[in-house]
Amino acid sequence: MITRKILLNPGPATTTDTVKMAQVVPDICPREKEFIDVIREVEEGLLGIVHADPTEYAAVMFCGSGTICMDVALNSLLPDGRKVLIINNGAYSRRGVEICKFYHLPYINLEFPVNKLPDLQRIERELEENPDIALVYITHHETGTGLLNPVQEIGELAHRYHALLIADTTSSYAMLPINIKENNIDFCMASAQKGIMGITGLSYLIGRREEIEKSAAYPTRSYYCNLYRQYAYMRDHGEMHFTPPVQALYAARQAIREYFEEGEQNKWKRHLRVMEAISTGLQKLGFQMYIPRTIQSGLVAAVLYPEDENWDFEKIHDYCYERGFTIYPGKVEQKQMFRLCAFGAIDETDIEKFFKVFEGALTISKVQIPVRY
Ligand SMILES: *Cc1c(COP(=O)(O)O)cnc(C)c1O
Repeated sequence: MITRKILLNPGPATTTDTVKMAQVVPDICPREKEFIDVIREVEEGLLGIVHADPTEYAAVMFCGSGTICMDVALNSLLPDGRKVLIINNGAYSRRGVEICKFYHLPYINLEFPVNKLPDLQRIERELEENPDIALVYITHHETGTGLLNPVQEIGELAHRYHALLIADTTSSYAMLPINIKENNIDFCMASAQKGIMGITGLSYLIGRREEIEKSAAYPTRSYYCNLYRQYAYMRDHGEMHFTPPVQALYAARQAIREYFEEGEQNKWKRHLRVMEAISTGLQKLGFQMYIPRTIQSGLVAAVLYPEDENWDFEKIHDYCYERGFTIYPGKVEQKQMFRLCAFGAIDETDIEKFFKVFEGALTISKVQIPVRY
């Protein structure tokens, strides 16, 4: 028996015991056919989750945390002499900007307020004025604030101006239903510790084969983190180029089986139910969210610190942690907040239990309830 912990942080998420136990396997060399079958099943599942036709789309895996996919997508898919347009309304898009800087890629950092949807007309103007934009980069779900960006509309704009849409779907993939083609996404990405509820160490990009094939002719800016090289190796050999995260792949296979058993719609409904319980619990205590529900994904609640001299996030965190619940600080500059996420293998009853503990933490800290602003 493994003690069950409720993780309300933005990944890694709570996993099922069957996923945890799937890592415990006899030692195996990843070049064996038996292991290549594991890779193939994971690959098919990853494509299936976003309804991608395997003849048109490929799932390319990397050993690393989610950021590796942002790195790979940006450094590998930009033709020489062309630009990236980053739609920047949050901390994760800002990370995309940093990646462009580190690779010296030409880019436009199109900034919008972090608590609002981006202005589509402004994006269109940028595309119109800069015909050399080859890639439009957007974070589907900004995990820092919980804001859901309109990828489908932005993808349509990108395509109208002959650019590809790269969507960082790390914190929406396998939670919020995505149809890669209908949503106008050319490349999306995620990491096993988030939506599929697997374990850390495995990340993946899902995108158009034709565009990956074309990218063979683009400048190679990284030896290890290159999309075409990994794609071609997987296509030709059925395995990852360098040592894969073996146990993470066994766990991912199990997690994906459980994903399809639960079903896309049921899983999404469960995440929404969890978020509903989070909102209700917060409201009862008087807490305020940073952005309105109408622009939220339904997966992350970014909650403003109350104005109370006894509020001490670290203390509250520690009290909850000791009782099996993990809460997480905010990720917005100049605004003090914390986050509760509806990821992972949890349900509304876990949230009800959490709020009993959380209220206990507030009471012990002598924070006034309902909290004040
Ligand atoms: C979690 C996350 C990532 C990846 O973060 P890692 O710490 O590298 O796993 C990237 N983008 C978004 C939107 C995320 O939520």
